[in-house]
Amino acid sequence: MVRVRTSLAQLPAYVPGRKVPGAVVLASNESPYGLLPGVAATLTELAGGMSRYPDLSATALVQAIAGHHEVEPDRIAVGAGSSEVCGQLLHSVVGFGDEVVFGWRSFEAYPILTAVAGGVAVRVPLLDHALDLDAMAAAITDRTRLVFVCNPNNPTSTAVGERALLDFADRVPEDVLIVVDEAYREYADPALVPDALALLGDRPNVVVLRTFSKAYGLAGLRVGYCVAPPWIAAHVRKTQVPFSVSALAQEAAVVALGERAEVARRAALTVVERERVTLMLHALGFEVPDSQANFVWLPLADESADFAVHCLGGHVVVRPFLGEGVRVTIGLPQENEAFLDLAATWRG
Ligand code: PMP
Repeated sequence: MVRVRTSLAQLPAYVPGRKVPGAVVLASNESPYGLLPGVAATLTELAGGMSRYPDLSATALVQAIAGHHEVEPDRIAVGAGSSEVCGQLLHSVVGFGDEVVFGWRSFEAYPILTAVAGGVAVRVPLLDHALDLDAMAAAITDRTRLVFVCNPNNPTSTAVGERALLDFADRVPEDVLIVVDEAYREYADPALVPDALALLGDRPNVVVLRTFSKAYGLAGLRVGYCVAPPWIAAHVRKTQVPFSVSALAQEAAVVALGERAEVARRAALTVVERERVTLMLHALGFEVPDSQANFVWLPLADESADFAVHCLGGHVVVRPFLGEGVRVTIGLPQENEAFLDLAATWRG
């Protein structure tokens, strides 16, 4: 009998948002606006070239990302979504039995990827639905190699501010890698939520993670990246599955970066809708923490599963985290309306 790794036996599988044909899907934090106009044209144009391997080093994409952030290209490493880049970062610094600290609940891939990398997950409970950076700093030991700071946090939508992030970074030893995961950066208010690259980008132990899956509308193509000190980026590149970022994904991401104004316009529409949905939910008596992302969090605890079933009955798919809460992605206005109608009929 083949022996599988015991550390993986108890590991929950990643639970993706459900896809229900014909339903309004507000379960995966995707952009509701579809492909950016230039991206759609590029994909059709490139389809014929798919018998060839992509550029292994994603040269044009890396240059475009570097230009976007005004950093040297040697600071960029890409992967098939920022999920793969999370794994690459873990494989770069975590040895067998080393600890990885993150808030909990947070992005559900963190514990899975930590275990796959042979690390030990240290989950630090949230405080008022937000990362408890003091407790996270206190949880760091001699065995800690990496700490994820998901800002804004998925699934609770809250963000930590500049002072708290700076104080935290000052407390983390220089040999521990701080990974600030900014998957939802484009939806955050820059006056309230720091850009980690601007704030901490010059530190030797800070990496900032970004994705094309949310505001750039490329979730299905799988492309994400990190901005890191050059020698860390070099390691992160080594741990990438060769050719994991397809030629279509590379080209589409370059085009998407060039459509910055449209990306910002769409993100602003989502923010307006998020504020409207939050107000309506408050009026209906729901607790809703202040969101800085493209989703809201309803801490419904034991009612979470029932609420999701109630929504599904009205053909709206939301994302329950059993016993904790429900995450609802902000969609198009009419989709949000369908959700709000269901929220209004919850509990009669
Ligand atoms: N980080 C966070 C916080 C996320 O919520 C997600 C997507 N759910 C990701 C990273 C990964 O996204 P992707 O792999 O599509 O880039």
